[in-house]
Amino acid sequence: MPSIIEKLYKGSSFLELTKENESRLPSEKDIRKNYTLEILGTGLLKIIPNNVDSSHAYIISTAIHGNETAPIEIVDGILKDFFKGSLQICAPTLFIFGSPKSMNIQKRFVDFNLNRLFAGAWRNTKPCYETTRAEELEKVCYDFRNEFNKHQLAHYDLHTAIKPSKHEKFAIYPFAIERAKVSETQIAFMEDLGCEAVLFSKSKSTTFSCFSANELRAESFTVELGKVWPFGKNPTENFKKADDTLRSLLSGHYVTREKPSESLIKYDVHSSIIKQGSNFKFLYTKDVDNFESFAKDTPLYEDNGKIYKTEEDELALIFPNTDVEIGQRAGLLLRRRRND
Ligand SMILES: [Zn+2]
Repeated sequence: MPSIIEKLYKGSSFLELTKENESRLPSEKDIRKNYTLEILGTGLLKIIPNNVDSSHAYIISTAIHGNETAPIEIVDGILKDFFKGSLQICAPTLFIFGSPKSMNIQKRFVDFNLNRLFAGAWRNTKPCYETTRAEELEKVCYDFRNEFNKHQLAHYDLHTAIKPSKHEKFAIYPFAIERAKVSETQIAFMEDLGCEAVLFSKSKSTTFSCFSANELRAESFTVELGKVWPFGKNPTENFKKADDTLRSLLSGHYVTREKPSESLIKYDVHSSIIKQGSNFKFLYTKDVDNFESFAKDTPLYEDNGKIYKTEEDELALIFPNTDVEIGQRAGLLLRRRRND
């Protein structure tokens, strides 16, 4: 029987193999002339160029939420072209399809939002599919970091958003305790992926990118590339810039820029809205897009019988979601940076 890697070279898609083997894909290692390839489990593929002396290493993750198809399809295309021989990969790269089971049911998650379970949070959550997967993903990431300990590691966790957004594409730069300074070249890379805005977190969280920024000393971002569409329905022109930029990065052709342009919009997190009671509700009457801003003293939400009013002008709201567990984040309030 041909090995899995053999099948990939013959045109099979790693995405399809992952979906067909949602619980388990046997580990496999194949050392070839130019590359060492390793399947580390379902949805987990490591590609190491043998003859390239790169100081960079990458983790490219998608499908942390299973229905966020555009970045999944971008990576599927990149891998197909790699196995066809039409795209080189010039730095050690770990590709991750985060949640095969939720891809198969075309849902954000099976039991629990995977992107809240990193940095060991899976240990404190009732065991379920996502806790097991978070543990597995952390392990392969730690191993990858240990293997390429001296490399400059970047982790791009690629998503699409449920809600319409005033900025179609944006990135979240997680808070990292030991990061000495903001990497302007990385922020510029976000702009090259097509992001109009970057949002700077000010506290640690249990997202995948925050885990890798802190535990793996990676330059990490959660990247929101636009709207959720079903598999096969993504308007590819909307994602072309991200696709092209990722390809040029991985193939060693990307030219770094010192800093982003003036037009990139920057936000700081003002506060997290944490759901305290089961009757939590937002008080705006019409549906709002991500980054909708509110005037000072606008009654924004009601929780445990108390009404919260915005404390200052032009606070922008993203990821409003009442449908989260008590104690989880129901939204984030942002403050736009004016002069930087
Ligand atoms: Zn997502």
